[in-house]
Amino acid sequence: MKSVTVIGCGIIGLTTAIKLQEKGLKVRIVAKERFNKTLSSKVGAIWFPFEIYPKEKTNNWASLAYKEYKKETKIGNGVTFIPFITAYDNESNTDWALKMPKGTTRKATPSELPKGIEMAFISTVPLAEPGLYLPHLFERFIENKGTFIQQEVTSLEEAAKLDELVINCTGLGAKKLCNDNALQPMRGQILRCKKMDIPSGADSTKKGALSYIINRSTDCVIGGTDYLDDWNLQVEQSDTDIIIDRLLANGLSQQKPEIIEEIVGLRPKRHEVRFEFDNTYPSVFHNYGHGGAGFTVAWGCAIEVAALLNN
Ligand SMILES: Cc1cc2nc3c(=O)[nH]c(=O)nc-3n(C[C@H](O)[C@H](O)[C@H](O)COP(=O)(O)OP(=O)(O)OC[C@H]3O[C@@H](n4cnc5c(N)ncnc54)[C@H](O)[C@@H]3O)c2cc1C
Repeated sequence: MKSVTVIGCGIIGLTTAIKLQEKGLKVRIVAKERFNKTLSSKVGAIWFPFEIYPKEKTNNWASLAYKEYKKETKIGNGVTFIPFITAYDNESNTDWALKMPKGTTRKATPSELPKGIEMAFISTVPLAEPGLYLPHLFERFIENKGTFIQQEVTSLEEAAKLDELVINCTGLGAKKLCNDNALQPMRGQILRCKKMDIPSGADSTKKGALSYIINRSTDCVIGGTDYLDDWNLQVEQSDTDIIIDRLLANGLSQQKPEIIEEIVGLRPKRHEVRFEFDNTYPSVFHNYGHGGAGFTVAWGCAIEVAALLNN
């Protein structure tokens, strides 16, 4: 049995590790942080192809992931399907909508459009609540005889020596590990709030004024910001104010949300997801740079990695 080491324990590392186990490989995860300390643990996480490239590949991964989430919908593991309004304009990537299963996506009628939005889809999409879903995936990985080692990997040379095959799922950590100048942080601040009686949806059509609402089982996530090349991990009151102002301005809510927690995360943004074998270390495969859509595409990438390694 071939053995593989996956570096990284976020949504990309965990889904990759599980798909490799399903192919009969012996898998271990090596990561600086356990799943509950990763970026992946802090976010929404709704199926929404946002700030991820190139669209041809990522729409395909998103579509594969959509189907996989159908199988993942079980009570207690945090995966549900919810109605979601996605605003778009003439420049948006809307090809994902063409790949949606029949009956799950339609154009919103004028009376259904939130204030300030001219065009939108109404779809039924997966929601994977990280607080439930990541522990579920980690347990599943361990039950499948997976092992976990908490360790930082400091160079690609060191990574290559870890195993016969190594999959690099280090998210933004790959910037330092691979000396990758194409990888940049895209800072997002979000508000975890008490549940609200308003529809879930996202408007990413106004550059620098990202706005979204994700209703989850016990709370509501309201976002957000999308500041490129910003490493600031501190919560900024000015961003909280902007997020609330946008929510009130779009008319979806008449009252201010009750904030439980303010959260900041750095999206691993790249002009394209790095999804290839390393030139210098051919036993290392890179799977990082999933921008604002790691949850949206994770299973799709994992399925493709497993297919590649099996050949
Ligand atoms: C505010 C915000 C909201 C978001 N909302 C959504 C959403 O609703 N839907 C969606 O699909 N996406 C969303 N995203 C994007 C999503 O969070 C990311 O794309 C995804 O979490 C990336 O996952 P990852 O596993 O690649 O990285 P991470 O979760 O960052 O995990 C990286 C792993 O690699 C490890 N690591 C890093 N460097 C090293 C090293 N040198 N040695 C060993 N281990 C290392 C880390 O410790 C960690 O275990 C959001 C992002 C932000 C910031």
